[in-house]
Amino acid sequence: MKTGTLYIMATPIGNLEDMTFRAVRILREVDLIAAEDTRHSRKLLTHFGISKPLTSYFDHNKNIKGSIILDKLKEGLSVALISDAGTPCISDPGYQLVRDAVANGILVVPVPGACAAIAALSVSGLPTDSFVFEGFLPNRQGKRREKLAVLKEEKRLLVLYEAPTRLMATLLDIREIFGDRDMVVAREISKIYEELLRGRVAEVLHALQGRQVKGEIVLLIAPAKEVAAIGEDVVTELLQRYLFTEGDSVKDAVRKVALETGAPKGTVYDEALRLKR
Ligand code: SAM
Repeated sequence: MKTGTLYIMATPIGNLEDMTFRAVRILREVDLIAAEDTRHSRKLLTHFGISKPLTSYFDHNKNIKGSIILDKLKEGLSVALISDAGTPCISDPGYQLVRDAVANGILVVPVPGACAAIAALSVSGLPTDSFVFEGFLPNRQGKRREKLAVLKEEKRLLVLYEAPTRLMATLLDIREIFGDRDMVVAREISKIYEELLRGRVAEVLHALQGRQVKGEIVLLIAPAKEVAAIGEDVVTELLQRYLFTEGDSVKDAVRKVALETGAPKGTVYDEALRLKR
């Protein structure tokens, strides 16, 4: 028996006009639509006049639902997987279903479209030649800071998803652990209150001060500057001058050198401590 096709389909991240013609056509043709939240997706389908059997597929039922969907695909039915917004499998459920479908010889077809990370990157004005997508950082501050410490020396642009309630705390942690890098906050992309904040972390923090930030957010953080590119010896020489000739405190010397060289504050601080020892 001929098996069905599994379509991994992107849906809009806000503006329904971002739905593609192809996505609408395929949704009209498939036998079954698997959605993260059926009530949420029903609205999308109604908007496009699509009436098809809908089943749920989300994080907590993905094992049981995955095998039911797989059976349908094996029987020859075609299924479209959609998430609440954007591209399935990107900080959204789906990869286990794709993996199992592939293992069972089922054709898996991407139906590309919106993805918040890619939309934010495209307008960031930051170097996008290489980037690393980390999705959501851990909720808890301790774990979040541990993760940021691991990412501190990353040489690629960092892409994060963040909830508005954690935004300020995360930005404060980023400034402290990474230093004052260039960054972008992309909020409510493609929606009425779309906003892009660009600048150093401290500037973005300043701009957000006293505001009650709402909505969905992507954070882009510029990579650690190559200290070698500006010369590690330049950092060391400047530190020596400020610390030992001019008698500055470690804090003042680090601030001045980081500002003058663009080297990450953390790196300069480590070097200052080494010199002091
Ligand atoms: N699969 C989705 C995609 O392709 O982007 C991401 C799903 S993830 C569960 C949801 C997160 O994506 C939000 O918390 C937010 O960080 C980001 N996001 C989704 N829509 C967004 C939008 N319109 N503007 C900014 N960020 C958005």
